[in-house]
Amino acid sequence: MESINSLHGIGAERAKLFAKKGIKTVEDLLYYFPRGHEDRTKFCEIADCPVGEFVCIKAKVFSPVKEVRIKRNFTIYSMVIFDDSGAMNVVWYNNRFVKNAFHTDDEILFYGKVAAARNKKELQNPVYEKAGNERFIGRIVPVYPLSGNLTQKIIASAMEQAIERAGVMSEYIPSAVRSKYNIAEINFAMKNIHFPSDFNSYEISRRRFVFEELLTLQLALLERKSDNTKAQRTPFSDTECVKEFIKGLPFELTGAQKRVISKMCEDFKSQTPMNRLVQGDVGSGKTVVAAAGMYVAYKNGFQSAIMAPTEILANQHFETFSAFFEGTGIEPVLLTSGTKNKKAIYEKIASGEYSVIIGTNAIIQEEVQYKNLGLVVADEQHRFGVVQRAKLVSKGENPNTLIMTATPIPRTLSLILYGDLDVSVIDELPPGRKPVATYAVGEDMRKRIYAFLDKHIKNGSQAYVVCPLIEESEKTDLANAEDIHKRLEKIFPQYNVGLVHGRMKSAEKESIMRDFAENKIQILVSTTVIEVGVNVPNSNIMIIENAERFGLSTLHQLRGRVGRGQEEAFCIMFAHGSSEITKKRIQTLCKSNDGFYISEQDLKLRGPGDFFGTRQHGLPELKVANLFTDAEILEDAQNAAVDITEGKCKITAEEFFGLRKKVDKILSDSIVLN
Ligand code: ADP
Ligand code: MG
Repeated sequence: MESINSLHGIGAERAKLFAKKGIKTVEDLLYYFPRGHEDRTKFCEIADCPVGEFVCIKAKVFSPVKEVRIKRNFTIYSMVIFDDSGAMNVVWYNNRFVKNAFHTDDEILFYGKVAAARNKKELQNPVYEKAGNERFIGRIVPVYPLSGNLTQKIIASAMEQAIERAGVMSEYIPSAVRSKYNIAEINFAMKNIHFPSDFNSYEISRRRFVFEELLTLQLALLERKSDNTKAQRTPFSDTECVKEFIKGLPFELTGAQKRVISKMCEDFKSQTPMNRLVQGDVGSGKTVVAAAGMYVAYKNGFQSAIMAPTEILANQHFETFSAFFEGTGIEPVLLTSGTKNKKAIYEKIASGEYSVIIGTNAIIQEEVQYKNLGLVVADEQHRFGVVQRAKLVSKGENPNTLIMTATPIPRTLSLILYGDLDVSVIDELPPGRKPVATYAVGEDMRKRIYAFLDKHIKNGSQAYVVCPLIEESEKTDLANAEDIHKRLEKIFPQYNVGLVHGRMKSAEKESIMRDFAENKIQILVSTTVIEVGVNVPNSNIMIIENAERFGLSTLHQLRGRVGRGQEEAFCIMFAHGSSEITKKRIQTLCKSNDGFYISEQDLKLRGPGDFFGTRQHGLPELKVANLFTDAEILEDAQNAAVDITEGKCKITAEEFFGLRKKVDKILSDSIVLN
């Protein structure tokens, strides 16, 4: 489409400013949607204009503009205007453009705020247009997200031309889809999202673009999924062998684990690479599912690799997997940034001598070459980006991919976030798990809590104490790990109190975690480094300092560290602050141990912004849609995408062409989809 230079008032300089916002063509501009609107339709007579409100006034100029310089950088311009009902003062601050803008008796439209000054009403900093030439007064006008020197007026005036210039745009949401889902036509919608004739028209128009955005995204995801089914790899011919592995386990698998494993084995038998997301609450037993997959890969002559988000977790996995694989002939290798003799390990990975590789993102570095990677596992995937996942996958030839996450996501949203994946849910906890008894307490309870802690440790259990900060910071009185550590050492000289945090060297962290796992340490003070995945079944007390500082999901993850053994487990949160949201968050946690419920509440309480940070998930940034408030439109869009891909809706060639282009653009723009 035409470049925006072709619009009046957009020269090279302004075009550059637009380009900074990613706007190069007239079409780009049209899709630069306003963040809101200003209602400039309400006219008042001077005599009845209400103080404190924004109004439009049509009046004549009584006297030329007066300039009064108050001090450097502060000049007031003022003039008097009148209509049939009376006269009033108009003032502008530091706006030298108004100085020569008016002549006596000119008829002008103003839009601005009415204020009271020295017992008289005045109109402050209004925008203005000559009567008869009005463009942006007397109607609903768009308010755009601004940048630099681009003013609302420049953007709005370019936009008006753009709409004109675009002429009759062709519709690419198939008319069958539009009528089924009640979607506004594009020309109407484009005009009314920018310059609505009334607010209802705006809502209808916005709905169309939200639908359009989600529909194209969903189509791209579905397409990506079907592309994936075109990729080929060697099937694992023997999946029966998984039974041997299961027989050797020290516990009986839950029904949910069995179901996911058998799904995975079905995937393995196909020529299509597996792309499966396993969602399971903390402690639901995802690790053994990964191990079963890796065992099958091994038996079929393929390498497999699992990537964990932290060193601690990689270490722990290494130990867990080593135990799972005892007597099978598999010797897993650990590869993290702290690993020694990397070169020798690389060689044995390249030669295929190592068949199970466990590590952090060290396993996706350039130097690591695999012989025949058949299965890659990403554990706790919300912790690392889609890019890393993609890198891991690129280490093999269309390997099977298993992604494990403890962040449950409501179904509709998981379709958007993981539209290109098959999703399995482990919705059952291993038997004997009791919910963690959870309490929120104030500072006045500290003594009693420590007595409680003492009693339980005496009986053989262990405890985590989690703090928001590592060291003392001048500005806050937040509990920090170092201070709490010192304090607890004093209070409990009879126990070993350990400290672990993210700034320690990995060897140090590892040895402390090991001591904790072996009960050489009874109380472990830490930051959230232990949030993810760590498993010490004997530890059944979790104390969280400044719980108000953590998000709901984090708190749930932290709590998931306990309650893994036979004993009853406790989570005690020291919570300060009294904001309603904080209280609700903490209450939610005390009330429920169900990760799905908690994540839904989390979403409600904080809104979708950071939770679903779509960018974090590698999806294109959404321009209009809000995955939370637009959930209903999302559902419609998802249904429509299925209608289209399954041929349930008739599409003309022209509609198809337009839609195709949109979908291609998303596919080429976004990282997750490549
Ligand atoms: P997560 O899903 O949080 O990664 P893990 O895989 O770490 O959970 O499992 C948590 C604990 O439960 C581990 O100690 C694991 O050995 C144990 N576990 C897993 N599955 C079962 C089961 N079916 N029966 C008993 N214990 C199990
Ligand atoms: Mg885990």
